[in-house]
Amino acid sequence: AKPHVVVIGGGAGGATAARYLMKDSEGALDVTLIEPNATYYTCFFSNLYLGGFRDFDSLGHTYGKLADMGIKVVQDMATGVDRAARTVTLGNGDVLNYDRLVIAPGIDFVDDSVPGWSLDVAEVMPHAYKAGPQTQLLKSQVEAMPQGGTFAMVAPPNPYRCPPGPYERISMVAHLLKTNNPTGKILIFDPKENFSKRALFEEGWQKHYSGMVTWIGPDLGGANVEVRADTMEVIVDGEAEKVDVCNVIPAQKAGMIAATAGITDDAGWAPVDPASMRSKSDENIYVLGDASAQGDMPKSGFSANSQAKVAAMAIRGELTDSRVFPARYSNTCWSLIAPDDGVKVGASYEPTEEKIASVESFISETGEDAALRKSTYEESLGWYSGITADMFG
Ligand code: FAD
Repeated sequence: AKPHVVVIGGGAGGATAARYLMKDSEGALDVTLIEPNATYYTCFFSNLYLGGFRDFDSLGHTYGKLADMGIKVVQDMATGVDRAARTVTLGNGDVLNYDRLVIAPGIDFVDDSVPGWSLDVAEVMPHAYKAGPQTQLLKSQVEAMPQGGTFAMVAPPNPYRCPPGPYERISMVAHLLKTNNPTGKILIFDPKENFSKRALFEEGWQKHYSGMVTWIGPDLGGANVEVRADTMEVIVDGEAEKVDVCNVIPAQKAGMIAATAGITDDAGWAPVDPASMRSKSDENIYVLGDASAQGDMPKSGFSANSQAKVAAMAIRGELTDSRVFPARYSNTCWSLIAPDDGVKVGASYEPTEEKIASVESFISETGEDAALRKSTYEESLGWYSGITADMFG
């Protein structure tokens, strides 16, 4: 029999890994992809959907092309991993044997990280940090806000997926309100002293949405909030603030199956070898994307895609004796602040002994002219179509 690679999670990391394992091994490997959803909705560009720049269907991707390549796509949850026996158990009770296992389940939320919030109230106070119905719910809530109403965001502590994501979201909500609800207000409660591309976002908020956005950092109580879903209140340092929409983005950890497999650390992430993405706890397991603890790369779809190619190459090398090149990684995170006002931050990375380390980075500057910002936005459109084709075929 051919060596068998099982991939858990058909998102940015897992879909890319499955595709590259199949494509580059030219039939020498059996590849199974386990994913419970028939359609994967990208979190990337989900903020643009909120802002009215994309329709929802444009975020959806299916697994037909991966199946056409010969990847066995199993629509189920992985519920258990037996590392000694090298098996994965599925929700339906089936047991799959593997030679190598790729774990790419994305994130789960840390229980009780925001007092008063749990998944039980996510229908009232959405996280919209796993794309799909939650993203649609948040958009409909923003559209239904009363004139002059308040949108609140409880921003997450580090590390979390997509460092600029919450702030791009604020920009897109502000854009919607500017058109439909110009006296609406936005409050951000943030436990962090600082955030990604802050100068760029603050400049953009001032320019496009003057007076609408208030950022409340840890000094003013942003790290000490509680929410009450039944009364739609945010309690800040003991003071209740009534809001109309409350987007709670909790603290995060690796998707549950990583902990079930016993490969996570105390912080809830799965440490990996920076040169290959191999789990530090098990030489037959690789971890990709948000779930991994790897060093300097932000948790992003771009990063997950980049890491997946390195892991696929390492796995092929082990199982088929093919050539393995030194690992190189890259990432860029684009954000849209207002129509045609795009900014970006990115870097290239190489493995050191301890971590994946940033070697060269770049970031948009404040005060850039409109033409440059427009071309940065257009670059992001090309990136989205290119990377989703690289993931899903
Ligand atoms: P995911 O893409 O989340 O995939 C994980 C998959 O695993 C899911 O499909 C899930 O259903 C499946 N799964 C989980 N558990 C199991 C299990 N037990 N069994 C089987 N399957 C399982 N990144 C960018 O690069 N650019 C951006 O512009 C960008 N914008 C973003 C905006 C927002 C609002 C958000 C929230 C994120 C954004 N990101 C962006 C980040 C990006 O979405 C994630 O970093 C990326 O999806 C991580 O890929 P992943 O493969 O680790 O996880």
